Amino acid sequence: MRALTWQGLQDVSVRSVPDPVLQDPTDAIVRVTSTAICGSDLHLYNVLAAYLHPGDILGHEFMGVVEQVGSAVDTLEVGDKVIVPFNVSCGKCWMCERGLFAQCETTQNVDQGTGASLFGYTDLYGSVPGGQAELVRVPHADFLPVRVDPALADERVLYLTDILPTAWQGIEYADVEEGGTLAVMGLGPVGQLAVRAARHRGLRVIGVDRIPERNALAAEWGAEVVDLDSTKNVGDAIRDLTDGRGADGVLDAVGMEAHGSPVLGAAVSAAKRLPKPLARAAIETAGVDRLAALHASIDAVRRGGTVSISGVYGGMADPMPMMELFDKGVQMRMGQCHVRRWTDELYDLVSGPDDVLGLEDLATHRVPLEQAPEMYKTFNDKQDNCLKVVLTP
Ligand code: NAD
Ligand code: ZN
Ligand code: ZN
Repeated sequence: MRALTWQGLQDVSVRSVPDPVLQDPTDAIVRVTSTAICGSDLHLYNVLAAYLHPGDILGHEFMGVVEQVGSAVDTLEVGDKVIVPFNVSCGKCWMCERGLFAQCETTQNVDQGTGASLFGYTDLYGSVPGGQAELVRVPHADFLPVRVDPALADERVLYLTDILPTAWQGIEYADVEEGGTLAVMGLGPVGQLAVRAARHRGLRVIGVDRIPERNALAAEWGAEVVDLDSTKNVGDAIRDLTDGRGADGVLDAVGMEAHGSPVLGAAVSAAKRLPKPLARAAIETAGVDRLAALHASIDAVRRGGTVSISGVYGGMADPMPMMELFDKGVQMRMGQCHVRRWTDELYDLVSGPDDVLGLEDLATHRVPLEQAPEMYKTFNDKQDNCLKVVLTP
């Protein structure tokens, strides 16, 4: 089959690789009909590159048609259309029973001290090949995949695999009461869906980004917008809009942004020439610069409010304003989305006659899988007004 493979820092290519096969009785093989590129893939493309191996198949947002099922899978049939949540969760272990699907204990990661395996995340998370490919092996297929109405357009349900539940969980964690104000830092695909879902839930929303098209789109969906580059201080701008107090909740939908940070960008470039352990160290200690969105979130939240972190952070040397956090009495919640926890509720929301969250119009680029390498570059460099890329194998 053809698959998008990681080859090096900012270097991916579509290659012919062996087809996946059933390994466990609870596996299924899914033939992918649509698969998206995520902001998280950009971390693998940039800052996490030092962890990958040439040939790793990327991709964790995918859906398709069930092609084969293992002998223990009686919940799916060949021909079913499914979306597959990005965290590989069993539905039965101690963590899954508590809805903590991103911490599923049945993965091979337990000794590494990490959570559930993730599709397309190399041995950082369980070495499960990803879904930017023609075929994928799906573990725990007796629980994980969600059957969808084949009459729906793929893009109506594709984002249930990740970015919509991520936005939804981010809003839940931000814990803003109806009528309260949620600030959304970062208006990429996750931030856009957070804006739409929060408006749908009756919240006032303030969106923050520096890309004019993304700010304009969020405004169309009812957000008040603060433009990062023409604002001296985001916290002050948000306090100006909230009686001087700050937002009740702030959702950080940015994370560590290689291309937004000159220091980190330089570290990534330098790492291209370094051996792996040194490259890792260079990137991980690139400094406070990459915490810009998180520090702005802590500043912009009101006293007693909550900072909810959906953006992905990593590294060991990150200074945090502990006095400010303590004095303001800020709650913080974060982590991978427990995707399967939200999919049933969200399927009901998105599968009605009206596309209430505008999901079918979110993607700006739809191309064959073969063009994935150009699309990684376009999405990474924020060129061509690129907001979301959907690949069709
Ligand atoms: P993206 O890269 O398209 O969007 C990030 C946006 O943040 C960009 O529009 C950028 O201009 C903006 N930005 C950069 N610095 C900023 C700052 N200081 N203040 C405000 N905005 C700033 O990515 P995406 O696909 O929307 O994903 C967003 C984040 O969510 C990524 O870190 C991704 O890894 C993470 N994510 C997490 C989960 C999870 O399970 N927690 C799931 C999916 C994605
Ligand atoms: Zn994703
Ligand atoms: Zn589990």
